[in-house]
Amino acid sequence: MTNDDKKFEGFLNSISPSFCPAKWYESSINLGKGTTSSCSLISHHKIRLEDIKQTPQHLHNTGYKKTDRFRMQIGHTPFTCKGCESRIEKSKIYSEEDIEELEDLVYVTNILPKQLELSFDGDEYKNYNPFVETFFKWWDTELHDSLDNLKIVGEEPLKKSYLWRLVDGIIKTKSQTKLLIESNLKVNDGLIEKLIIASYNIEDINLIINYDLIDKEQKISIYKLLEHGDINLFNFKHCLNEKTEDFIVFITELMNVYDNTKFIFNINNINFKTLEEIKLYSNN
Ligand code: SF4
Repeated sequence: MTNDDKKFEGFLNSISPSFCPAKWYESSINLGKGTTSSCSLISHHKIRLEDIKQTPQHLHNTGYKKTDRFRMQIGHTPFTCKGCESRIEKSKIYSEEDIEELEDLVYVTNILPKQLELSFDGDEYKNYNPFVETFFKWWDTELHDSLDNLKIVGEEPLKKSYLWRLVDGIIKTKSQTKLLIESNLKVNDGLIEKLIIASYNIEDINLIINYDLIDKEQKISIYKLLEHGDINLFNFKHCLNEKTEDFIVFITELMNVYDNTKFIFNINNINFKTLEEIKLYSNN
């Protein structure tokens, strides 16, 4: 842990030894199933339909999370957070002012998330999904203005009609939220074209690309997006395997031809921004 991290940990502990602002400011929501958790590290619980009829804010502010927030305020570790090693990492993206605001907040208060991870998997409500409809109402009224980051995850999001409805919503509301889409880019040309058009109409759009095996279809999509689109960042996620050398050759090609600041390469959860860093890693 760096000295800055230790100092920050001291600040968090001065509020309470279990305090973590992700419990308020971060949310993971599966609209297909109607479930949520306060961060992507812990398992989801059900969102109550009767609660979201009162306010869309209950998609994130469930009774379950509110109890956990109260536990943190009085220094008890919520059961779901026991053994968490990411509290500092997840917390340090927020300002001290934003964190201090939570210290004495009445625990039943609804709060808007700043970081949201969204998926549409396993839709259990084929004809009318109340969680999806409530979400879009929430997006239009306040979420488009309050979120810093919106990350779309799950089974290939580009193939989901909800993703494109969301893209339209982001454009319509002129939202400044950073959009991150986790995709393998193995989709038809029509969807890549749609993504290219979206990239010119959304302020900040980023891709997280799962790139374990070298795939011709993925390469074609990546080159198309680089040549014709306006994607801010390509974040490649790769797990060490027998194709790692080919992966490094491919990213070397990309970095030699295109603007280097557009790429991050993540190998086994380690981020690299320059070719030198990757070469050093691969030599080792
Ligand atoms: S303590 Fe850990 S598991 Fe709990 S909300 Fe914070 S980051 Fe998530």
